[in-house]
Amino acid sequence: MTKRVRLREELSRQRTSLLTEWNFSLVPPSERACYADPADQASNDFEQDLAIQVRTRMIARLKRIERALQLTQTKSYGCCRRCRKAIPYARLTVQPDTLFCVSCLARMERKHYRH
Ligand SMILES: [Zn+2]
Repeated sequence: MTKRVRLREELSRQRTSLLTEWNFSLVPPSERACYADPADQASNDFEQDLAIQVRTRMIARLKRIERALQLTQTKSYGCCRRCRKAIPYARLTVQPDTLFCVSCLARMERKHYRH
């Protein structure tokens, strides 16, 4: 039970640091300036695209963490979604938002399955 509390704390900690990062990444909308040189404009656009990609990944991560936090309230937390076996605690400490055990994940990756 205390293990679960520790994992909940880890999840909250990761959520907090993600939200902090998120705030930093939102800083420069004012830098969406117009450049006289089209090359500068292009590189600025490229950076904007990159920033959007980073944010999309952060949202996905945040959603996983939120879901895991909700799952910690239920019995299914820490059980593999696929084979229903318990996910080792060592793995959960590294990645508390994981939904699958290592062998299922490996099997899914062999099938080129991405979720
Ligand atoms: Zn499994």
